[in-house]
Amino acid sequence: MKSTAPSRRDRIRSLLADLKMPGALEAVDSVLSGLDSGALTGAEAIEALLSAQIELRNNRRLEAAMRSSRLPAVKTLEGFDFSFQPSIRREQIESLHELGFVERKENVIFLGPPGVGKTHLAISLAIAAAQSGRRVYYGTLSDLITSLEEAQTAGKLQQRLKVLTHPAVLVVDEIGYLPTSRTGAMLFFQLMARRYETASTILTSNKGFEEWGEIFGDEVMAAALIDRLLHHCHIVSIRGNSYRMRHHTELYRTLHSPEAETEGQLHGGDQAARRCRRTDGSSPPPSGTFSVAISGTFSIAIDNFHGGADE
Ligand code: ADP
Ligand code: MG
Repeated sequence: MKSTAPSRRDRIRSLLADLKMPGALEAVDSVLSGLDSGALTGAEAIEALLSAQIELRNNRRLEAAMRSSRLPAVKTLEGFDFSFQPSIRREQIESLHELGFVERKENVIFLGPPGVGKTHLAISLAIAAAQSGRRVYYGTLSDLITSLEEAQTAGKLQQRLKVLTHPAVLVVDEIGYLPTSRTGAMLFFQLMARRYETASTILTSNKGFEEWGEIFGDEVMAAALIDRLLHHCHIVSIRGNSYRMRHHTELYRTLHSPEAETEGQLHGGDQAARRCRRTDGSSPPPSGTFSVAISGTFSIAIDNFHGGADE
């Protein structure tokens, strides 16, 4: 095979520099060598060059997102061990990572006990969105409420609400670990009402929906909040063991003995989960120690779930 002349190599390099394609520029020598030696076909070489540029762009977007979004860690789909968590339908999670839900401004809610990967998957979805060029923002429920309360005190609530409504993906992590004040809950409700049907929110909670009234200190407000959140929503209900505790099986068993379990166990939600999945005909996940309970009040909203059918 004819090898690429040095002058042509230089021209290609200067074209890539002119096009501001540093990733491709860095890869071009080895790609051309691959072509010259016959290790790569023309199509493979083009693909390798463009992929190198996309990889660099995605890494830069990720770095920028890590600075601006307050994401607490880098967690990816590749780093998630599905075999550890059989209650999760891998196709549902992979399909969510294609980001159709962001396009359609739908929500995702991860429910389940501590350590099962709710935050991991919420972050990996946010990272996928950031890498696709969307603006993302992360906060725990209590962080977000504190920032809204501070803005209100400073007379800048509308500004703050606008800032938090803007991102295409907002992660609201840890709903249920700390109770909120009533004012805080009202502020959060305002934020969610603004984002409703205009941008996607990814939420995580260790509590079933019927406990949200208690978390937010107001049953009526919690019902209105859940109604909006669930209208266009994918629910991922995880029932399984804590990944953090995977090397401490004995301790885990003690903590999750039947007596210890009753407190965190919620009944009635399988009905909701079944309705969610009905659309794709998939089989229900194995029964476990955590289920989602939704009172009859929300059944109309629940019928609108895209729960199992994703993209
Ligand atoms: P949760 O938010 O449900 O309490 P996290 O997502 O914070 O749990 O998970 C706890 C830790 O375990 C994190 O470091 C996370 O990356 C890791 N982890 C959880 N589940 C898995 C899994 N199935 N595969 C790989 N890492 C996991
Ligand atoms: Mg978490």
